[in-house]
Amino acid sequence: MVNEVVFILDEKYSEINENMKYNYHAIALEKFNISEADRLYTFFTLERGLIRVPAKSVRKSKAKLAAQVEDFVFSHITIAKGCGRGVLSGAVVEKYFVELHQNYWALQHIDRVRIIFLSIIEENDSDERIFWLWANYLEELNHLSKKQQKDVGAHESQFSWITHAFLIQLFILLGYDFATVHCCVCYDKINEIRNGFSAAKGGVLCSKCFCSEYFCYIEPDTIKAIRIIQTNKLQSLAKVTVHDDVYKQLDRIVYNIEKWIMR
Ligand SMILES: [Zn+2]
Repeated sequence: MVNEVVFILDEKYSEINENMKYNYHAIALEKFNISEADRLYTFFTLERGLIRVPAKSVRKSKAKLAAQVEDFVFSHITIAKGCGRGVLSGAVVEKYFVELHQNYWALQHIDRVRIIFLSIIEENDSDERIFWLWANYLEELNHLSKKQQKDVGAHESQFSWITHAFLIQLFILLGYDFATVHCCVCYDKINEIRNGFSAAKGGVLCSKCFCSEYFCYIEPDTIKAIRIIQTNKLQSLAKVTVHDDVYKQLDRIVYNIEKWIMR
């Protein structure tokens, strides 16, 4: 009985407000089919952070809306709202990132990032810095994909480097920054020798405090790479080249951070 009353109120409310439309800058991250013709979209927006909104009849063959909100496309979207989530009523692509969508490596990396991002971000918590970090990440991956298409030397490791840089910068914006200059346990200055890393402890550990049973090793070049990521914009990092051991070690370190944040 209570449910019926709520339903009637909802309907009336949406009739009264059916013309209220809201515009957002959005990056499409995920979609699910929710009935024969409808979909539920997940966007990260500049104005409201993460939002999930249904789109009606978007799977019908003549519907043009679906192409405007493909995964990892930057669009301007319009949501018609009564109460609740509202309904996606329009979208225009700002940047499609064509080459990224044709590149296997780019899609693999971005898919990993999407899973991490959606598991740690709450809905309706906006952060402009995170939005533009996403936009820049897509831009950089697209640029690398373009370079690879023209065969001018974009290697898999560069996709990996920019993805790790994106994740470390995202973690920082979410409040997870890690010590790289001083040991996070005894605060001694970190020497240029093999040290350790632990997200749970708060960053790099000096050789005295490091216990290999629990943490991963980190070489001086990897510490330098993390410092560069911590202090530079993503766009400038695309020009940095690091050697393969650093890519591999960064992979383990970012995984260590992910595991700790997503615990
Ligand atoms: Zn120490």
